[in-house]
Amino acid sequence: MRAARVWLVGAGPGDPGLLTLKAAQVLARAEVVVHDHLVTPEILAMLPPCAELIYAGKQRGRHTLTQAKINALLVRLARGGRRVVRLKGGDPFIFGRGGEEALALARAGIRFEVVPGITAASGVAAYAGIPLTHRGVAQACVLVTGSQRGGIAELDWTALARPDQTIVVYMGLAGLERISRELIAHGLSPRTPSAIIQQGTTAGQRVVAGTLAALPRLAAEVRVRAPTLIVIGKVVRLRSALDWFSPNSR
Ligand code: SAH
Repeated sequence: MRAARVWLVGAGPGDPGLLTLKAAQVLARAEVVVHDHLVTPEILAMLPPCAELIYAGKQRGRHTLTQAKINALLVRLARGGRRVVRLKGGDPFIFGRGGEEALALARAGIRFEVVPGITAASGVAAYAGIPLTHRGVAQACVLVTGSQRGGIAELDWTALARPDQTIVVYMGLAGLERISRELIAHGLSPRTPSAIIQQGTTAGQRVVAGTLAALPRLAAEVRVRAPTLIVIGKVVRLRSALDWFSPNSR
């Protein structure tokens, strides 16, 4: 029997063109694929027809399998001798819990490989025409999660509220009101340009841009739907000149 092995693969933010060459090669040889809800149907359609597909969740408030069960499933599948691919949206090691899965595999003595993917921050911001850093505008970029253990994340608001830094918030929609309020309370200008990007890089991409103070109201008005990425910082202003992607012409 073949040695057990699992590939932890990042699928990128949605557009199948943003898969890495390596991810495509690994997917083409997959025998069983455990995927989450962020992996788009177009990418799943690239899998070999004979590959077994297992859906592992998770959407906010609708966890199909717990993380512990996913970890155990990967170990069990790998021991079955098939080529196991754990396919995740974006990059497996950026808010993807890929580290926990890799630890579980390592502890079980199962070999694994990690195929990095384009994370939502870089892919989605690029398709929204927002450079995350820009000379003279943003010298730093920080990626944070807006949600922690099912609730709204407790973040270091003072460190985040720095004027020359771009903040990218993953899983931030539910906490947007609080995020906006705290950043302003900790000194960030209420007029800081901000954007919320829905289903970035896909045909469903929608971008709502406005000031930090107005963003929660704007998001509610247009009924933004997950997955959404929030970008806060002066770089968002560049979008008016750099907005190149039209979702419908893909
Ligand atoms: N590992 C993933 C992130 C998983 S957390 C990565 O590296 O991108 C899930 C969050 O990612 C979502 O709640 C959303 O904030 C963000 N996200 C992922 N894909 C996205 C997309 N196409 N458009 C907007 N946000 C996205």
